[in-house]
Amino acid sequence: LIHFDKVVKRFGDNVVLRELDFDVAAGERVTLIGPSGSGKTTILRLLMTLEDVNGGVIWVNGQPLNLMYRNGRLVPANEAHLRQVRKKIGMVFQQFNLFPNMSVRKNLTEAPVHSLGVSKDEADQRAEELLEMVDLRDKIDAHPTQLSGGQQQRVAIARALAMQPEILLLDEVTSALDPELVAGVLDVLREIARTTDITMLAVTHEMGFAKDVSHRVLMFDGGQIVEEGPPERIFGDPHEERTKSFLHAVL
Ligand code: ATP
Repeated sequence: LIHFDKVVKRFGDNVVLRELDFDVAAGERVTLIGPSGSGKTTILRLLMTLEDVNGGVIWVNGQPLNLMYRNGRLVPANEAHLRQVRKKIGMVFQQFNLFPNMSVRKNLTEAPVHSLGVSKDEADQRAEELLEMVDLRDKIDAHPTQLSGGQQQRVAIARALAMQPEILLLDEVTSALDPELVAGVLDVLREIARTTDITMLAVTHEMGFAKDVSHRVLMFDGGQIVEEGPPERIFGDPHEERTKSFLHAVL
C-alpha cells in the first residue's frame, strides 16, 4: 500500500531522511520508534503531502506522491491522484488541531459533507456512531474549548475516521496529554485496531501500546531504519546497540 523508495528529505543542511526504504502492507499496523529528531514525524508529514521529498519516491497504491524523474525529466505527481490519496489518509496530531469555532458535530461532519459529498443526514448519523465509539456521544453539541485534552483527542480520532480513511497516521497522539488522560485515548485506538482493518502508522513513546497493537516496529536513527521486527522481538530481544540504549532510556 505504501512504498518508500530511497526517500531523501533535507531541511537546509540537515539531512533528516537518507535514502529511506520501507513498505507498509494494507491492513498492517506499524509503529515508528527512535530518538527525538530521527525523522519519524517527517515521514508522516510526507505521507500527508504537508512536505515534499528532496529525492526518491513515495508510492501509495502504486502511484507516486511527489515529483519524480522519468526518462531524465522531472514529472509532477498527478493532481487527481493526489486528491484521491489525501482522502484516503487521515492524521491525528499531537496537538488535537480541532476547529475551535465549530461544535464537535460540525468538526465531524464538515469534511465528509464538503469533500466526500456525503449527505448531511448520513454524516450526522456517522458522527453519532463515531462519538459513541469514543465514548463522547453526549458532547456532540459541545465546543472543543469545553472539553479536556483527552476528550479533544478522542474527537480528533473520530474526526479522522469520519473521512473513512484507509490509512490512519498517528503522531504522538498522547504526548500532550496529562498522564491520567492517556489511557482513555489509547483504549480507543486499541479498539480501532481490534475492530477494523485500517492501516495504521503510529509514532509513539507508549511502548506498551506499541506492543499491543502493532504487527511491526521500526526503530529509526539518523534518518535510517536501524532495526525492525515484530514488537515481541524488538522489545524483548533488541539486537542493535542503538535500539538497546533507546529502549533503556524510554522504558
Ligand atoms: P520528535 O520525536 O522530537 O518529534 P522526530 O523523530 O519525529 O522527533 P522530526 O520531527 O521528523 O523528528 O524531525 C527531524 C528533524 O527535522 C529535526 O532535526 C527537526 O529539527 C527537523 N525539522 C523538522 N521539520 C522542520 C522544518 N519544517 N524546518 C526545519 N527543520 C525541520
